[in-house]
Amino acid sequence: MKTTKELLEFAARQGINYLEERPARRPYPAPEAIGELSRLGFQLPDGPTGPEEVIRLLDEVGSPAAVGNTGGRYFGFVIGGSLPVAVAANWLAGAWDQNAGLKITSPLAAKLEEVAAQWLLEVLALPPQSGVGFVTGATMANFCGLAAARHALLKRKGWNVEAQGLYGAPEIKVVVGEEAHVSPLKALSLLGFGSERVIRVPINSEGEMLPDELPPLDDMTIVCLQAGNVNSGAIDPLYEICRMAQARGAWVHIDGAFGLWGAASPQLAHQLKGYNLADSWATDLHKWLNVPYDSGVIICREPEHLRAAMSINAAYIPPQEEREPYAFTPEMSRRARGAEAWAALYSLGKAGVAELVERSCRHAALFAKRMKRAGFEVLNEVNLNQVLVSFGADELTRRVINELQKEGPCWCGSTTWQGRHVMRISVSSWATTEEDVEACAEAMVRIAKQEKSFKLVGF
Ligand SMILES: *Cc1c(COP(=O)(O)O)cnc(C)c1O
Repeated sequence: MKTTKELLEFAARQGINYLEERPARRPYPAPEAIGELSRLGFQLPDGPTGPEEVIRLLDEVGSPAAVGNTGGRYFGFVIGGSLPVAVAANWLAGAWDQNAGLKITSPLAAKLEEVAAQWLLEVLALPPQSGVGFVTGATMANFCGLAAARHALLKRKGWNVEAQGLYGAPEIKVVVGEEAHVSPLKALSLLGFGSERVIRVPINSEGEMLPDELPPLDDMTIVCLQAGNVNSGAIDPLYEICRMAQARGAWVHIDGAFGLWGAASPQLAHQLKGYNLADSWATDLHKWLNVPYDSGVIICREPEHLRAAMSINAAYIPPQEEREPYAFTPEMSRRARGAEAWAALYSLGKAGVAELVERSCRHAALFAKRMKRAGFEVLNEVNLNQVLVSFGADELTRRVINELQKEGPCWCGSTTWQGRHVMRISVSSWATTEEDVEACAEAMVRIAKQEKSFKLVGF
């Protein structure tokens, strides 16, 4: 039986090996490695198994089957990697095993959240008095922002939704764009608003909401905007719509899961003009800040609305009280996410965050340039880190994506854009280099040309 020290050193060494071997491995595990996962399932033994044997099997079977989003050649969905400093903070925080729910259960976790929250507000240039909650991701952040909106709007009508629920409550109108992510729609369904009981606003060809198509807004309306369409990266006309909403007393929530990070860059911030006029913002840290899963934040301009919606005894908490972590999130007990956020922000600094975001955008632009040069179509205006590529007919594009995934030099998924089947490239990892982009673009072009010629000769 190994000592605890030996066990942890073994796990750390295997983790380091995994990260070091990552660049040489396929970004997506081979089918054989996925097949081997069956070795993790067996009759639970009656007696104990030595910790070293447990971790050895976990590594032996697990590591080869892990999806390589920590490497530089994974471009699927919108999935960030992990900065080494954030992985290190995660390991240390794992050793601490803090319960971040209450200040008294972990003054350490509470302090890290407090500092990371202030830094985040500074980096994203959002109102410094905002309330910030550390949640699992943008979906829970959307949930929290929309719950705060629900609270605030109903309170105006003298209705306490946390106590009385929604039956018989004054009606709230919810407005979303046609291209809203499924995430805020799920949040709306969890909140009792219904994911279909929304007013959907038409969009332009990039997926941006058309302000002229908005329904009449009033002080019982929630407008849910998007900064960063999950396919095209498009950003709704935030300034125009926030102004219209403000004039009518409507609540504006922005789903900025990755796009909000554009605000951290002096080069990109103009695309988000007006974002800071909203009432609440949801964003992910596990996407563009490149911290380990799971990590997102809700930011609410007037913290009392978020606290009232999340707190277990909202009415009795005086607004001046010290920040209690649980008062800003749906969970009570939870892990110390602030550790990785604090470490990533400290390590990068303000300029480093901007550079990380700008670098991904440069890489996306380079992908687009290479695809166009080879004669393939890029369907979106590449404003951020997202590129939508068509290699011709849907069927051909489908075959190219399949072949690319099978051969495995990099990994891209598919999506539907304006009724067409396209390949989606999302550059969200700190680890991607220009060399990665050139090599992957070359592989894409080679495979696409090969598939195209198969078709021509009638295979
Ligand atoms: C990724 C994403 C989400 C969902 O985020 P999770 O972290 O998976 O909950 C919501 N909205 C947009 C625009 C996204 O890109």
